[in-house]
Amino acid sequence: MHSEEWQKIGLPHAYILTLYNKITSDEIDDVICSEILHADDLHADILKNMIHGTCCTLNPNSPCMVDGKCSKNYSQAFAANTITGEDAYPWYRGRSTKDGGNSATVHV
Ligand SMILES: [Zn+2]
Repeated sequence: MHSEEWQKIGLPHAYILTLYNKITSDEIDDVICSEILHADDLHADILKNMIHGTCCTLNPNSPCMVDGKCSKNYSQAFAANTITGEDAYPWYRGRSTKDGGNSATVHV
């Protein structure tokens, strides 16, 4: 399974997931999450290129704002485990620091 996206700077990037064995719903968090990892060689690049910029009340003129709301649904609530949303899309695990997630400081 893969998904290709184009960012504002014009470069494509892809999310690629290859499964060799069928996984069960309680194993999803072992292979997919939406958390900031602290892998030394990727951490700076992730913070620089993969974080949604300020919007909503902090920056109501951000390009993502439509009718006073972020069209990308940020900021998102934390989720201790992956759950299925009402629209059938998964809400991937994104833990708060209280639940064992990481935090990062992003300068804008
Ligand atoms: Zn936004």
